Amino acid sequence: MSGISRPGLKTTQLILLIICFLQSVAGVTRPSIAETNQSIFGNRLSQVESIEIVSLSRETKVILGLNRPVAFSTFVMGDPDRLVIDFEGVALKLNGDTSFPVTSTIADFRFGRLSAQKTRIVFDLKKKSRIARAILEQNDETNTASIIILLNDTRLPVNSDVRHVGVNGKIVTKRKTKKEVARVVPVTHKPVVVIDPGHGGIDPGAIGADGKKEKDIVLQFALALKNDLEKNDRIVVKMTRENDEFIKLSERVAIARSHRAALMISIHADSVPQSYVRGATVYSLSDEASDSVGAELERQESRSEILAGFDVEQNNDFVGDILIDLARRETEAHSRIFSNLLVSQMKKKIRMSKNATRSADLMVLRAPDVPSVLIELGYLSNRDDEKALQSVAWRQNAVKAIVDTINRHVAGL
Ligand SMILES: [Zn+2]
Repeated sequence: MSGISRPGLKTTQLILLIICFLQSVAGVTRPSIAETNQSIFGNRLSQVESIEIVSLSRETKVILGLNRPVAFSTFVMGDPDRLVIDFEGVALKLNGDTSFPVTSTIADFRFGRLSAQKTRIVFDLKKKSRIARAILEQNDETNTASIIILLNDTRLPVNSDVRHVGVNGKIVTKRKTKKEVARVVPVTHKPVVVIDPGHGGIDPGAIGADGKKEKDIVLQFALALKNDLEKNDRIVVKMTRENDEFIKLSERVAIARSHRAALMISIHADSVPQSYVRGATVYSLSDEASDSVGAELERQESRSEILAGFDVEQNNDFVGDILIDLARRETEAHSRIFSNLLVSQMKKKIRMSKNATRSADLMVLRAPDVPSVLIELGYLSNRDDEKALQSVAWRQNAVKAIVDTINRHVAGL
């Protein structure tokens, strides 16, 4: 039905894809051929049986043939331009016969597992597009279904709002209209700074030699920071927690994103076996947690989630979708610039660690659209640091350095 078509992926390539796909499903265990066959051909799986692309003059129709109705979410992304379709709550496979036609709008496609219950298909787009319609059509006689996504060419910046379509074909949420967007945007255009005191509740964080808990020290510091920041009425300050409560890392990121924060600052205090190590450190996100200190920190961070009885959700709906793909280079660049400025101010006021500017692949720094830094105020494993962190004078100095940096570089003063 598409104007131009080609045989598409060779069968061997497709089988390889399916095997990779199954390996990721199986996790650590590599499936035997028999198991693989069973998984591929077992009839419990929902299945994409055909992919069809119809190119019209300024729009493109992507039609997926399915063996049954399946709920899905779809959105577009930029840099590079892509159409993403996520299938929820089902294991999904692509039929071996699925061929892919080359068109003027779509260059290629690939698919894979996001989690046990989620599969993603990505189409590489040759031009900027927006989703005009996304529907699930059910054939009642055969109980098969089609997903039809209509893409329009656009020159506007890519809008990555997600459309969710339920298994009954009903649109659960659709892209916000301009009016709706106008209503939800806060009336204030003041930059929002989110302060995120680490740990809390059943997760105490590091514990000092005299028994002081990181969760308490960082909360006290964060509240002092909030207090001083709020003296600047050109900034809006939000906290991820103001009490002794446990908040998941993904939730902390979600809070910052929901406020469209201009900056997120996580506050922690470190602990290491070497009791002589002292000073404050500022972390920003790195692509690889190559820094071994950062890797250890990440391990501790994940452990605190597990200790608190939560699974580490690297791929939860809200954060996972975006984390995987969205270009966050600009956010990272901002984070790094801010981190450098912060260290240069802080070292005038308080003692810094040997390598005070570091990067690590920390979950809490991963908001793709919120520049984020994590400050380790010092080492609770060092008695002098532990004392300093609890002294009013030290706290005032540290708070002042951070507030000055924010006032100058975030509030644009
Ligand atoms: Zn911590």
